[in-house]
This record gives sequence, C-alpha cells and structure tokens, in this order.
Amino acid sequence: MASTRTPVLFFGHGSPMLTLSRNKFTDAWAKIGKAVARPKEILCISAHWYIAGPAVIVSTAPPTVHDFGGFPQELFNVEYPAHGSPTLARTVQKLLAPIKVDLTEKWGYDHGTWTVLRHLYPHADVPIVQLSIDGTKPAEYHYEVGKRLATLRDQGVMIVGSGNLVHNLMLYRRNDGPLNPMDWAVKFDARARDLMLGKDYEALVRYERLGQEARLAIPTPDHYLPLLYVLGAADNKEAIHFPIDGIDGGSMSMRTVQVGL
Ligand code: ZN
Repeated sequence: MASTRTPVLFFGHGSPMLTLSRNKFTDAWAKIGKAVARPKEILCISAHWYIAGPAVIVSTAPPTVHDFGGFPQELFNVEYPAHGSPTLARTVQKLLAPIKVDLTEKWGYDHGTWTVLRHLYPHADVPIVQLSIDGTKPAEYHYEVGKRLATLRDQGVMIVGSGNLVHNLMLYRRNDGPLNPMDWAVKFDARARDLMLGKDYEALVRYERLGQEARLAIPTPDHYLPLLYVLGAADNKEAIHFPIDGIDGGSMSMRTVQVGL
C-alpha cells in the first residue's frame, strides 16, 4: 500500500564536524527525523564505503568507524551504537541476486552514516545496515540496484543515501561557509534540482554528459552515486522535495532530497 511506504532520502553530509554542531543543516536533519514515520530499519548507502564489490554489513552490533584524519579528538570519541540487522542484510543479498553481495563484518558505520543519523535518531534506536558502493561499476548499475531495493520500502525499511551532490574538495574553502558559492556549483546544483523536479532521473544517471559543471561538481563519483540509489528507489509518481539546500565552502552542496513522506 502506497500509504505505508517509507520515504527515501539522500543527504548531503558535508563535514563530519557537523555531527557535533548545531546549525541550520543539523536542525533540519533533526526535524526530518521527527517528521517522517519512524522506520523499522534503515539501509544506508554511504559515499565512504566505496570499494571493489557489493557488500552488506551483517554484524548485530557494527562498530563506529572514524574514517578520517586531522579532526579533533572529540570527533574520534563519537560512537553511534545502533544495532545492525543480519536479517535485513540477508534480505538485501537475496534481492540483488544474481549479483553476488558479500556478507561482511569488516566494516561498521562510517561518518557518511553517523554524521547525519546522529541528528535524525540521536538515541541510535533504529537498526542500520550499510550497503557498499561497488566502485567498479558504471552509474547505470547503481540506479538499477536502487530500483531493486525499492520493494524494501513496503517493509518499513528507509533507504538512505549519504554523499554530496556537488563535492569538490580540491576547491573547498572551509572558512567560507555558505558565503561565496562558486558559480558552477550553484548552477550544477540547480540543474540537478530541476532535473529531479522534472523526473528526468535518467539524465542524472548520465551525468557525465552534463558538461563542464558536472565535471567540477563530480570529480570522483563516490559522493554522487548514493543519489542514484535513492532516485532508483523512487517512484516517478511520488512527490520529490528538498528539505535542505545550500552550498558550503564554495564547492559542496548540502542539498537533501526526499521522495515520499
Ligand atoms: Zn563525505
């Protein structure tokens, strides 16, 4: 039944420091956590688990991974002790067959997952499974996997993609915050928004044809591909909206994409 479908969400996660902050982005994340019906479980596709092959975490208590350097100790002390869900991990494995999905305990919740979910669900009381991004595959593959996952939405599973629609760290200027967004970043972010509003998801799958702005926005695909899982899991008839937008540090889009309510 359409009314019991969970929403699908793509989050621009930005800097892991946001997990310790309160600002308009984190307030909006917290608001989403309260606004959407509480999911039974979450399947998260994070930019920071970009490996050669598809895998899901099958642990009952995945560790919190601090997959970065150069941040204060306070950030390394962050723990997000949400339970895993071996049952959901196996369901994902079956859904994606004949793609061979590894069941692994060799990864945990990385900061793509916990930076945002600590604000949505601060009590870590919704079980989470992470699905890796197979970096050896083309964009179409990720969109198709998203389509195959859509059925989970009828079973109380919220599908979350975590990355950034525009993510160019080479050009990022941390101290600028929301000031001085670069022209190409604003343009690509708006173009992607308009394509989503027009339900032209295929054009976003073929992002490499979107010209110079796309090349600057997506210098590597890791932070962009989680969006394609979310669009794949979306139904064309569903409303799409953007609870958060804005460019941080000149070259990072913080846009959140929500499909369904
Ligand atoms: Zn990131």
